[in-house]
Amino acid sequence: MPLLILALILYSSVAQANVRFPHQTPPVTGPSKASPSECPPPLSVTIFLRKQICVHICFAEKLAVANKLLEQQGLADASTLGVQRLTGFRYGQTSLHGHGMAIDIDAATNPYLIHEGNETRLDEELAVVYERIAQFLLGRPSVVPHLGAERHIKETHRASAARLYDVLAQESVAMQHYFVLMKEGPQLWEYVHTPLGSHRVRLPSTFLSLLSKEEENPSQERKAAATSISNLTIDQIRLRMMSDWVTLTGQEGPSILALPRANAGVTGENVYLYYPQVAPPASDNPAKGEADRPFDSKGKAYPGRSPLNGFLTLRKELVLALIDSGLRWGALDLGHTSGDLMHFDSRDATCGRISTWKPFDYVPFS
Ligand SMILES: [Zn+2]
Repeated sequence: MPLLILALILYSSVAQANVRFPHQTPPVTGPSKASPSECPPPLSVTIFLRKQICVHICFAEKLAVANKLLEQQGLADASTLGVQRLTGFRYGQTSLHGHGMAIDIDAATNPYLIHEGNETRLDEELAVVYERIAQFLLGRPSVVPHLGAERHIKETHRASAARLYDVLAQESVAMQHYFVLMKEGPQLWEYVHTPLGSHRVRLPSTFLSLLSKEEENPSQERKAAATSISNLTIDQIRLRMMSDWVTLTGQEGPSILALPRANAGVTGENVYLYYPQVAPPASDNPAKGEADRPFDSKGKAYPGRSPLNGFLTLRKELVLALIDSGLRWGALDLGHTSGDLMHFDSRDATCGRISTWKPFDYVPFS
């Protein structure tokens, strides 16, 4: 009985820590390799995907299970899976990373898309962007604003994860395509003149408001070709896409050459479109910290983080192996804070039985 009580107390302390202090964005210069001096007991340096990572010994056992599952598929090597960087224990953090009970995999290219703590105001802007991209390229609503919602009745956790992985992967590709169209005006012109593109560009959640203006005041050119969309309107669509880029990143993106005003589909004059000015995102409560945008590349700290690269590079086999080993995926298992694609963690109450560890009761080695 005393052991059980101890386990419950430890579980409770970990659970409370996670509730009160949501996951924090990884530090810019976290260690990618942990040495024993940076990994005090009961944490330990373990090997996952043939890379070193510092985690709690209980968490290491779960990674070993995932590693075994991946080995059986010939995928237990980071390079085979395209994984660049693992981050486990982070000293001083009050999230599960501070307890060595979480890992982030390729944080740069698998960002925390939405629902980060203290950012509900930013989330409202982000949801509009994810929705516009999904409707414009896929013709369906985005799942991103709804991550963490109840899963389908009778659906297993694994089935839910597999299904959501697939729709997230679609939206990640759609985001890449969306911003290619922003860059390449003639391609956008072509797309909105296909039957599918013509329908989707007129959806209220995409660009209907921009087209309505043109259709209310048709030019001579438009009267001649009632179904055609002018270059001027195409550039207005691109300006909205550029605004979406800034909402996601907080920064200007690639230079955007305007389409010529006369002949549709041909780039001519060197006139550039300008990105809107951006203010830092407002957090719900500044006393609790600043908000950060999901694709903020923080200088060169997150190589590869760009909407042009989408938001999901984790292989499905990797995600499912980690879920099969008993971990939660931050994309969908964190309730109302779900949306953290890089993140996997455990709040396993049985971990307390193999250790007398208490949070923050050690002094880090110098
Ligand atoms: Zn994390």
